[in-house]
Amino acid sequence: MKVKMAISYPTVGASGRTGDWRVFRPVINQKLCIHCYNCYVFCPEGTISPELGVDYEYCKGCGICANECPSKAIRMVKEE
Ligand code: SF4
Ligand code: SF4
Repeated sequence: MKVKMAISYPTVGASGRTGDWRVFRPVINQKLCIHCYNCYVFCPEGTISPELGVDYEYCKGCGICANECPSKAIRMVKEE
């Protein structure tokens, strides 16, 4: 499935690399993923790529992607 959307991509801003202060990180279980692209659409930081990779430099760990995933394929894991 090809997805085309007008979205921006994260860059270094006043807050720097926002991934630096993340407490939880989203981890996608590809076996459970049904490729609905909810996570890609709802991520407020645009840190999920069309290939469903997460840019951990800028992901702030808000958990919206996990919340919007209909198949519970995204787990929020505590950062060490
Ligand atoms: S945790 Fe938040 S910032 Fe990180 S990928 Fe999910 S929705 Fe985007
Ligand atoms: S929201 Fe969940 S099922 Fe949908 S593409 Fe993302 S990880 Fe896959």
